[in-house]
Amino acid sequence: MIGVDFGGTQIKAGVVENGEVVRSKTTPTPAGSSPDRVLDAIADTVRGLDAKPKSVGVAIPGEVDSEGKCWGLPNVPGFKGVMFGEGLSERLGCPVAVENDATTAALGERLYGHGRRHPSFLMMTLGTGIGGGLVIGHQLYPGAYGFAGEIGHFTIDSAPDAWACACGMRGCVEAYAGTRGLIRAFAEYGKEATEVLDIATSARAGEEAGLRTFARMGIAIGKALANIQNVLDLSAIVFTGGVAQSFDLIEPHVRTALRRHCFAHPPAEVPLLVSELGARAGVIGAAHLTTL
Ligand SMILES: [Zn+2]
Repeated sequence: MIGVDFGGTQIKAGVVENGEVVRSKTTPTPAGSSPDRVLDAIADTVRGLDAKPKSVGVAIPGEVDSEGKCWGLPNVPGFKGVMFGEGLSERLGCPVAVENDATTAALGERLYGHGRRHPSFLMMTLGTGIGGGLVIGHQLYPGAYGFAGEIGHFTIDSAPDAWACACGMRGCVEAYAGTRGLIRAFAEYGKEATEVLDIATSARAGEEAGLRTFARMGIAIGKALANIQNVLDLSAIVFTGGVAQSFDLIEPHVRTALRRHCFAHPPAEVPLLVSELGARAGVIGAAHLTTL
């Protein structure tokens, strides 16, 4: 089984056997190229692992409908309306399944991670953007049009001057808890950072700016999760992505907000977990997309 995790900077492909990536190949995403050139690069990466693949699954950083048509990729221009699955299938001569990257990671976690013990969970990807994938009753739930689980764009602040989000709206969770929001908050507390690691270092040194930045992030995430819990009463929330390494710094604040905003006690005490698969969840989940 071959899975591909296609991102704004890298194309990671892997041969997956029994939930493990046994061989892999990574190539840079051709920046500023046409969709055709990007699809060529993905196909070349796959052929580097297997000249005649039987089936391929691809995780993409955006939404795709059940026909494999892309709604557009925020970080890779030119993909609006592109038939992603069809284009790759023609190049590779085999069936190709395509799904949103966060949803795909949730599939990997469902099969080989916390999903083995938790039938219903949201997998939340923390990074530059904030994505989400939803599994309900052991089944992946991409939604009617592929947009389910987009917790990053849950509105938590409806004030006119709420922070602007990369999606064009204001007051989204991502505006406060995505990388840009964290760097902005850190600056408001009087410190400068170029990446989240700088903020984590500050927090681990006990500095007020770092601690307050992560507290603010945790509260933003917890408010959104409380609303999700009030609707879905999930059995776990699973976190992944680069910022998940600093999860211990935000967890108490996520819990505080859950307790403050959940309608009832049990959903507020939902287990908050860090992905068992980590960065491998995308490739492992993608390899299984054609089995759905
Ligand atoms: Zn947004």
